[in-house]
Amino acid sequence: MIIKSAAYIISNVDWQKCPAPNLPEYAFIGRSNVGKSSLINMLANYDKLAKTSGTPGKTQLINHFVINDAWYLVDLPGYGFAKVSQSQRRQWEQMIENYLRKRENLVNVFVLIDSRHTPQKLDIDFINQLGKWEVPFNLVFTKADKNTQAETSKNVKAFLNKLREEWEFLPQHFITSTVKKSGRDAILGFIDEMNAQ
Ligand code: GDP
Repeated sequence: MIIKSAAYIISNVDWQKCPAPNLPEYAFIGRSNVGKSSLINMLANYDKLAKTSGTPGKTQLINHFVINDAWYLVDLPGYGFAKVSQSQRRQWEQMIENYLRKRENLVNVFVLIDSRHTPQKLDIDFINQLGKWEVPFNLVFTKADKNTQAETSKNVKAFLNKLREEWEFLPQHFITSTVKKSGRDAILGFIDEMNAQ
């Protein structure tokens, strides 16, 4: 896919105020600091489309962008901020659950996982929740340049093995580095394929 245009549209706390569901939509989510903004900027070929390294605990919004006037890219607020209150967490959960379960044009959620770490319960729990909600998703292992290839593969394998405890079929996965600009074509190719269906 060649990116011809990328534009910010709107931010919301309410899924019902998101743009009309007239284009296929792809959402990105993960733990805070996983590299989501960097990945979105790499995909869109746009340095500051998504803001990197936001302040923990800032207002959590569903951010819509439109790419090539053909599909929506959605930057969802991350989970796992250490310093959010119980009520902020509940607000996040409610907003995310509503969006993920009710957004009719949502084609796929890309769940970002930091490839430097061994499997983290927070990520596994979130993925298992997606399964219960029957939300289609796949995985993006980020920051692959931070480890050797062997270490990255080991962590990816360990994560997939952990998922096997709950899942009969494993989701597709991508491995990315915004430093090495790797993984971009595979993700955009996947979106192209889905859009063509
Ligand atoms: P977000 O909070 O998930 O949106 O994460 P950011 O995109 O703001 O990234 C968090 C930090 O990780 C920043 O310091 C980024 O420069 C860094 N980062 C993001 N992606 C990569 C990557 O692929 N490789 C390396 N080495 N650093 C990355």
